[in-house]
Amino acid sequence: MGKAIAIDGPAGAGKSTIAKMVAKELGFIYVDTGAMYRAMALFMIKKGIKAEESDKISKTCVEADITIKHENGEQVVYLNGENVNGLIRTEEVGNMASASSVNADVRKKLVELQQKLASETDVVMDGRDIGTVVLPNAELKVYLTASSKVRADRRYKELTAKGVDCDIDTIEKDIIDRDYRDMHREISPLKQADDAVLVDSSDMSINEVAEKIIQLFRK
Ligand code: C5P
Repeated sequence: MGKAIAIDGPAGAGKSTIAKMVAKELGFIYVDTGAMYRAMALFMIKKGIKAEESDKISKTCVEADITIKHENGEQVVYLNGENVNGLIRTEEVGNMASASSVNADVRKKLVELQQKLASETDVVMDGRDIGTVVLPNAELKVYLTASSKVRADRRYKELTAKGVDCDIDTIEKDIIDRDYRDMHREISPLKQADDAVLVDSSDMSINEVAEKIIQLFRK
């Protein structure tokens, strides 16, 4: 088992940006578990399966071969041999991922893959259930959050910078809906592990949050 830092929290709290910085500083591998759920969701969309068809999702998820490689410091997700990094960041895939990730068979398959990765190397892993389920013995667990307003505002700025036309109220509503689904599902709901440190990034810069986590780890 390598060393591990687990970072959990709701959508848009800055987990991936922060986790990447921390991993770089410590020389660990960054593992984005949301990307695995997104790749699985993309597979379901391609198969024409709907979010509510849970039997079909259970049957079909065995056909999805999801693998993770690290190329030039970036995590690359392969779905049945195809690099899908460029296809999984849409709102459609994110919403399907949030819906299909409630499925026990999907979770079992992806948790095994995540545990295997962490057994081979030192990792900073982010997601929703890393500290509670995937890596209960992680050296450091962080629950990273921010208000839904701040998270919506960050997402709005990101999208408008890319030239995407969007509405901040719709973004905030999507964030609140997704949080609710992630926090209230039966299996592995999003919650702060008992031994996780709570970090609220609403009034902190990215650098401040990354430094705080590195300090906590080195303590
Ligand atoms: O983090 P990201 O927004 O990319 O994750 C997409 C969806 O995947 C989340 O809304 C959540 O439902 C699911 N997920 C999960 N467990 C994880 C990581 C992501 O259920 N460890």
